[in-house]
Amino acid sequence: MKVYLDNQATTPVDPRVVEAVHRTMKEEFGNPASTLHAWGWRAEELTNIAREQVAGIVGASPKNIYFTCGATESINTVILGLREAPIKRVAHSSIEHKAVTYASKELERVGFTREVIPVSSLGNISLEYLETTLKTPTQLLSVIAANNEIGTIQDLQSISKACKKNGTLLHLDVTQMVGKVPLNLRELGVDFASFSSHKIYGPKGVGALFATDDAAKLLRPIQFGGGQESGLRSGTLNVPGIVGFGLACKILQEEMSEIDEHVWALTKLLKNRLTDALPGISFNGDPEKRIPGNLNVRIPGVDSNRLIGSLALDIALTAASACLSKTAAASSVLEAIGLSEQTQRESFRIGIGRFNTRAEIEWAADKIITTSKKITSDKLTIASNHLI
Ligand code: PLP
Repeated sequence: MKVYLDNQATTPVDPRVVEAVHRTMKEEFGNPASTLHAWGWRAEELTNIAREQVAGIVGASPKNIYFTCGATESINTVILGLREAPIKRVAHSSIEHKAVTYASKELERVGFTREVIPVSSLGNISLEYLETTLKTPTQLLSVIAANNEIGTIQDLQSISKACKKNGTLLHLDVTQMVGKVPLNLRELGVDFASFSSHKIYGPKGVGALFATDDAAKLLRPIQFGGGQESGLRSGTLNVPGIVGFGLACKILQEEMSEIDEHVWALTKLLKNRLTDALPGISFNGDPEKRIPGNLNVRIPGVDSNRLIGSLALDIALTAASACLSKTAAASSVLEAIGLSEQTQRESFRIGIGRFNTRAEIEWAADKIITTSKKITSDKLTIASNHLI
């Protein structure tokens, strides 16, 4: 058996989406910017349908959705797009994705102040700190709505309220939240939001930026050319990708409660199996306010890189966020919630998705348990040999 348990890094593509992307590539190759013929009109029509579907899943109006190549681009479009805004101060939490951290550091390089808001040991933003820091005029607050490593969901209502009260624009990175938790950006009073297709069973290379009418006017594009996406994101649209993204959103909107139930059941099953078999095991992140499917596991005495490496051909697991795992660097998120280096090294992430089955989870649990026990007993043997 081979079990993919890295659904926070990326998800398999829904077969219905594969079919739609394939059909569009084969039959609907027009450029939506070609306004003088039927091929272009049809491509534009497909893009508009997808825009409605994408808007639907986040409770937005289609006119406020801009297509990009993924969440990283959407995030950069917002943060760097504010480089000429009047208030030269941005804030973000200490557990953001690198796209937010590095884009904000780039603003810092050109004269902005960057404020990093601490989180609790469960990964919740300190609302007290937020309230205080926003008293200093701040152009933008960027918050990861659901964390990609530890799964914690933030108190978005309170964060939005604090921003409104202090006249700060709010950007939510909802990449890990979309399709897992009902979301209404309009009701939440968010100014910007970023998300991506490949985290929700859609194709890679396509994502969306949500911006309200007023907020969009403040953005200076970071990419210039043909003026697509109302001039905010020039470049020919990835129509097959957009069609797939739209369908992935539509499917999730229709099937979310059923998927959530399935993914929660598998998450609980795996958590219970591991807890029963591995003494001292603990789970990072908020135990209540969290997304389904994510488990950030710590097994004392087990080096997570060793565990992941031993299982790599059979089970996909990861030690830090997907983009960091190549560098084997310690996780800035685990560091921000106060874990020691040792504890970080004993932590790893499991990401369960809608296409995992109960049989897969049972099998993966056995493998993780036996491999962890072997690593611990190898260590004990080495230690006792040293004593002799
Ligand atoms: N934000 C979060 C929370 C993520 O998990 C990711 C992907 O790892 C990104 C942003 C970047 O998304 P993309 O791969 O679409 O650029």
